[in-house]
Amino acid sequence: MTPEIFHAVGDFRGDSLALAREAAATDAPIIVQAGVHFMAETSKILSPEKTILIPSLEAGCSLASSITGADVRLLKERYPGVPVVTYVNTTADVKAETDICCTSSNAVQVVEHICAEWGTDHVILIPDQYLAKNVAAMTDKKVITWAGSCEVHERFTAEDIQEIRAGNPDVVVLAHPECPPEVLAEADFAGSTAAMSGYVDKEQPKNVVLITECSMSDNVAAANPNVNFVRPCNLCPHMKRISLEGILRTLETGEHEVTVDPAIIEPARLAVQRMIDLPPLGTTSNFVARKGADVIAVERR
Ligand code: SF4
Repeated sequence: MTPEIFHAVGDFRGDSLALAREAAATDAPIIVQAGVHFMAETSKILSPEKTILIPSLEAGCSLASSITGADVRLLKERYPGVPVVTYVNTTADVKAETDICCTSSNAVQVVEHICAEWGTDHVILIPDQYLAKNVAAMTDKKVITWAGSCEVHERFTAEDIQEIRAGNPDVVVLAHPECPPEVLAEADFAGSTAAMSGYVDKEQPKNVVLITECSMSDNVAAANPNVNFVRPCNLCPHMKRISLEGILRTLETGEHEVTVDPAIIEPARLAVQRMIDLPPLGTTSNFVARKGADVIAVERR
């Protein structure tokens, strides 16, 4: 979200899972989710008794729309006995077909955990093929994925990083693991939005570039006025649909309510809750700028 939303109007700030947890913890019966649709659905899954509103029903996500629950059922038929780990950036019907969810912070640990629990060295990690490749580089598990991607992060290239370094020789490059592995291989540090933000807070580099969505970078910049941010970011067209005016309209009119089919709320909640209930896993704070590993990426026929 843009800094005026992130820093000025939100009661809570965080990634999709953190916001869903805040939505569940608050006593407020109505939640306005200033985020994209899958985030509002995740809040509804964890708080089915609350009214969840979103300023724009068109605030989607290329990752979430890349796969359906029916696709996951086909994957499970094709790879029986293989646990399904699903990124939180997915719709409720996909989560409902899932054994456990993950975030970009804990994906490696969730994969290791579920493989140990199931006694297998294979895992289905969907739907982001790049996150899957980057996770596969951090584990010896065999990763089957889906040919989905974040339309913002997949546009970055290794050449982009090389050009940034050529123009800014002392710049520190941080990249999100939804970027292709070749991009991470050029970075100094790779991790989730929270991990990148934590890196800047702690290290206070003189010059830094965050290879991620523009608003994410802007929000970290607003919190670190002594750091110079180089900004060749890509804007998410979906997040852009959430505006201050839209939030005001939602507060005034109560539109648009986000609902989830009651038949899938419980299995979807279980997949999210299993991740929440795991013993502290730590986080993957650095994907250590490795080349990604090979994965099997399945496409819809
Ligand atoms: S940046 Fe936009 S397209 Fe990419 S994962 Fe986030 S919401 Fe989806």
